Amino acid sequence: ANDSEMQLIRIHEYLTDLYHHILMHTKEGEGALKYLEDRGFSGDIIRKEKIGIAPDMRDFTKNALSDKGFSLELAFQAGVISRNEENFSYYDRFSGRIMIPIRNHQGYIVGYTARSMDGREPKYLNTPETSIFQKRRLLYNLSDARKDIRKQDEVILMEGHLDIIKVKMTDVNNVIGLMGTALSEQHIQVLNRLASNVTLMFDGDQAGQNAQLSLGADLLEGGLNVFIISMPKGMDPDEYIEKYGAEVFRNLVKNEKRHYIHFKAEHLLEESMNNDMAFSNNLKMLTDHLKHVKDQVIRERLIQHISQLYKVDRKSIEQNVPNQAPPT
Ligand code: ATP
Ligand code: MN
Ligand code: MN
Ligand code: MN
Repeated sequence: ANDSEMQLIRIHEYLTDLYHHILMHTKEGEGALKYLEDRGFSGDIIRKEKIGIAPDMRDFTKNALSDKGFSLELAFQAGVISRNEENFSYYDRFSGRIMIPIRNHQGYIVGYTARSMDGREPKYLNTPETSIFQKRRLLYNLSDARKDIRKQDEVILMEGHLDIIKVKMTDVNNVIGLMGTALSEQHIQVLNRLASNVTLMFDGDQAGQNAQLSLGADLLEGGLNVFIISMPKGMDPDEYIEKYGAEVFRNLVKNEKRHYIHFKAEHLLEESMNNDMAFSNNLKMLTDHLKHVKDQVIRERLIQHISQLYKVDRKSIEQNVPNQAPPT
């Protein structure tokens, strides 16, 4: 980070410590601390992640920064306060929210995702795009997960920040998240340099399933092996861990990984069986995906699986998947 970026980062480090202190040690933080404890977040993880609370006031953050000698103009550029565009006065952006710090790949805090506790919309408010907070570059928890990702040659991608924090409590550490659901070229590049395998573990609802299908295809085409762990209907990883515990969760992560193409073949089967046009299109799509599977053994297995599921001769699938670059 260069000098002007470091200035914005220093604002975050100051505020993060302040919000965390208020959460842990003041009356102001009691409600939020209780909320987090009720959701199963331990004191240890709250301290480790430096989760905090932004007081529910219009000028708290603004005044705290001023008192410390930070420039409000810079704080605005950092995205931690807002500006009234009519009279250019500044006011707090994250009032009354639980503050979850977001670190960049070097481990510097560059933004927040901030959850409301009282039903106030939006449920999550993020730092806006700034010079140090660029959603297309950031991967949440990467600075912490990098070592484990490398060691296991696998990264697990999840939807929610609180999912990731809860999962870290189970000692599964190779987990990261996006800031939203958009997967950029830069993300794919970074992931490719880190590991050969990506496992998607999104929420067990329609939105999660759709995101999984669409991101999975992009990752596969980006050269990664893609696997899916399906959540039970209506559950996300956080809720799963609360319901079944850490041990069951670790077993799920160890034992229930289906290849993206396997998952998709099953997902598309029902519609394919009742609709001949869909059958042909879906089979073609699955065959196209197979071209991106570099591992010979996995590819063989997938071909066999699709041929059984769709009741077609495996040769007719193989014909459309060149095994290697054609001989010259
Ligand atoms: P919680 O368990 O606290 O309800 P969650 O992570 O399960 O949170 P989801 O509704 O599943 O929340 O959303 C998943 C992710 O999508 C969130 O972590 C957040 O990053 C993003 N998200 C959800 N709602 C919003 C919103 N209104 N604005 C911006 N991002 C959002
Ligand atoms: Mn969701
Ligand atoms: Mn959740
Ligand atoms: Mn969720």
